[in-house]
Amino acid sequence: MPSIRGTANKASSRLPLSQKESGKDSLLEVKDLIVDFRTADGSVRAVDGVNLQLKTGDTLGLVGESGCGKSQAVLAMLGLLDRNGQVWGSACYRGQELIGLKESALNRVRGAKITMIFQDPMTALNPHLKVGTQLLEVLRQHARLPGKAARQHAIDWLAAVQLPDPARLMQRYPHELSGGQRQRVMIAMSLLCEPEILIADEPTTALDVTVQAGILQLLRELRRRLRMALILITHDLGLVAGICERVMVLYAGRVVESGPTAAVFHQPQHPYTRGLLACMPRLNTPFEQRLPTIAGRPPVIGQRPAGCSFAPRCSYAFTRCEHESPQLVALDPVRAKACHLERLP
Ligand code: SF4
Repeated sequence: MPSIRGTANKASSRLPLSQKESGKDSLLEVKDLIVDFRTADGSVRAVDGVNLQLKTGDTLGLVGESGCGKSQAVLAMLGLLDRNGQVWGSACYRGQELIGLKESALNRVRGAKITMIFQDPMTALNPHLKVGTQLLEVLRQHARLPGKAARQHAIDWLAAVQLPDPARLMQRYPHELSGGQRQRVMIAMSLLCEPEILIADEPTTALDVTVQAGILQLLRELRRRLRMALILITHDLGLVAGICERVMVLYAGRVVESGPTAAVFHQPQHPYTRGLLACMPRLNTPFEQRLPTIAGRPPVIGQRPAGCSFAPRCSYAFTRCEHESPQLVALDPVRAKACHLERLP
């Protein structure tokens, strides 16, 4: 695995291996994160009080339908919201508050310590610049590698993500590559500085199933070898089951259930989680059988019902659900849910 440890690069220096391997360090602590967007119709809330903790090597899946706030929550932590976005709460990376941090200081964290893989590499990569130019620009900004060493480091990473003929690939433009190759370039770019946290936002949605499996395997292997933490944002529960130890289910900007992935998926405690799992295709589902769906749609941002946001779609809703919003409460030391039902029938 290519490494820039031991170079003059201060921004990318990591903990000594002995310390890292001795236990899990706390990397990220998010408290009461709120994201509002100013619109012509007033302020609308996209993320409403999200809390999470991440330690070295953790894998966390954020799941939910489109518009549930999972992407906006991480974009807010990294100061990447659209201009009409406003953030409250706290997101501390190794004790450093990211919310409200100056752009120059934030740039030293994102792209080096915390990096992101986006859903569509074609829009994330610059179509006018060769792959090599884009990789070297990341190293120029975040690492102090001399020219030749930087080039070799970029080539090594293209090879590490299993791209053939990496030296030649440096000379090619993104449009000359397949979707799977572009996504591997994005992964290489996000790992150049050996981040401690990798955020992957729907990293395989635009790819066909075979390429998806290859990217998933690659992410799993790289995460294990680099001991980085991973936040996977997806609506694909199968992807989360394959790679994440913990999962948080979001609905209408709030966490409605969280816990170890195996426990949550085997015994969901929230009707929304159960509904999402029921919609997953399974190998033994007869070809002609229609997949179930969750009736209705998530509420439009800013138009949440007064009580539980899921109530209009919930077959277990009762009177209390219509006027009282459920809080996220611990079920045991590792699981939590936001639902008035004591247990799912
Ligand atoms: Fe359904 Fe009520 Fe639970 Fe909301 S609080 S998920 S409406 S049972």
